[in-house]
Amino acid sequence: LGMCPSIGTAEYLLTKIGTGWGAVSLLKKLDTENYNVIVISPRNFFLFTPLLPSCTTGTIEHRSIMEPVRNILRHKKATVKYYEAEATKIDYQKKVVYINDDSEIKGDISSTEVPFDMLVVGVGAENATFGIPGVREHSCFLKEVGDAQQIRKRIMDCVETASFKDQSPEERKRLLHMVVVGGGPTGVEFAGELQDFFEQDLKKWVPEIVDSFHVTLVEALPNVLPMFSKQLIDYTEKSFKEESITIRTKTMVKNVTDKTIEAEFTRPDGTKEKEILPYGLLVWATGNALRPVVKDLMSQIPAQKDSRRGLAVNEYLVVNGTENIWAVGDCAIANYAPTAQVASQEGAFLARLFNSLAKTETINAELANLSTEQAKATGEERTQALNNIKALQRQLRRVKQIGPFEYSHQGSLAYIGHDKAVADISWLSGNIASGGTVTYWFWKSAYVNMCFSTRNRMLVLVDWVKSYIFGRDVSRE
Ligand code: FAD
Ligand code: NAD
Repeated sequence: LGMCPSIGTAEYLLTKIGTGWGAVSLLKKLDTENYNVIVISPRNFFLFTPLLPSCTTGTIEHRSIMEPVRNILRHKKATVKYYEAEATKIDYQKKVVYINDDSEIKGDISSTEVPFDMLVVGVGAENATFGIPGVREHSCFLKEVGDAQQIRKRIMDCVETASFKDQSPEERKRLLHMVVVGGGPTGVEFAGELQDFFEQDLKKWVPEIVDSFHVTLVEALPNVLPMFSKQLIDYTEKSFKEESITIRTKTMVKNVTDKTIEAEFTRPDGTKEKEILPYGLLVWATGNALRPVVKDLMSQIPAQKDSRRGLAVNEYLVVNGTENIWAVGDCAIANYAPTAQVASQEGAFLARLFNSLAKTETINAELANLSTEQAKATGEERTQALNNIKALQRQLRRVKQIGPFEYSHQGSLAYIGHDKAVADISWLSGNIASGGTVTYWFWKSAYVNMCFSTRNRMLVLVDWVKSYIFGRDVSRE
């Protein structure tokens, strides 16, 4: 988000980069009458990422978890401008964001610049590959709608190709070996969804693949879901075993070719063993990396030179080394995990901060007027003016009382397949760990409640009922 002064009726122009969890949460709560707001993002919708893994198998249709940014903007009190563009560079000294229209259709102008007084960076992160050869060329990621669509298409392509006339048993086995790299929540949730798809639909629709279809989850650390409690990690690993999903822990992928993965397994005695795993579908879910625009901004600011994982911010989310740039979500490093929960709380905090800043300015202006009036007034009018000044000063103290950002952790939830979920929920000052079918219903109700709009909620519920009654759609499109 960025702001420019004295444009239109509001005092500042506020430009916001991104339409993800952090930026949209800020936009929702920001009183746009106080600022001229500009939103810049190549994605003209908000995406409810927690249900994205369900879109890879068609349990939920992707449009059900998308909310057009235009719909969000039209409900704001004052006009907010939106540019569908990628921010290619932020020049923090010139106070300018350079933007580029990356869409298929371009006009005469597809690159330009947007000035700002205040800027909020909420561009999220991109997929980490750690420079491992072959990852970008051969695997699918799971971050955006397009990724989920690509995975859905490839699953069915592997299934149909494996069923091709005269396909050899070895090739059939390779094509139906679905490998997920990364045992964080993204990898675990996807593996669970994929196994559900196989058990509940593919087995019935394409019975000839029953003996060869197999899901493997590869993780470099000694266990999956490192952010969950030990008991839930054990529960997940046990459930995966029962669901016939293979977990390969202590296995670090080193190289990827079009048909195989080369990995290094660490034995209990510490010695290493090289392995080759043939695959049909490879989904790469090894976490986050910095976006180039963030990397470039960091390189311009001396105070960011020691920061490696993102924009280092202070307790008010101001980017260290700047005065007028804030960062929220996965691109900011504020000592919290890169989650939607953190990003949306940070966005809401900034909205409160900016609303309070604007109010402070209004009250200060009113106080200045009243002081002039009071100086000229006599008798009762003077007493009245003095009372008004005192009331405004009290209001000003309240408005200024906004403290630093404090994250309130509500807990962690993940779907693990076979109608089971795991949850580490913060309760009073303790923690409740639970896993199983009841937790799955809690997961479902929590996420349907958290969907962006009533329209999204309705669509998700309809999708769940539809796939339960008719099965998931196996058309390859
Ligand atoms: P994002 O939501 O990623 O948004 C970034 C925005 O910036 C997008 O609009 C993007 O188009 C835009 N953008 C990118 N580059 C540019 C650019 N150069 N210029 C302008 N705009 C740009 N977290 C949870 O707490 N609970 C969950 O259950 C959960 N499930 C998840 C499931 C999946 C499959 C994934 C991938 C993540 C999940 N997360 C979950 C993590 C969560 O989605 C992220 O932490 C969250 O999206 C971060 O919000 P953000 O605003 O920083 O970035
Ligand atoms: P992650 O960073 O949580 O996990 C990635 C995993 O990949 C790590 O465990 C790492 O050891 C492993 N890995 C890295 N390189 C590897 C290699 N070469 N070979 C094998 N394994 C390798 O990533 P994520 O799951 O994409 O999650 C990203 C963020 O989004 C996290 O903060 C997560 O909490 C959040 N998220 C939350 C939920 C949820 O709450 N349900 C769901 C998805 C994502």
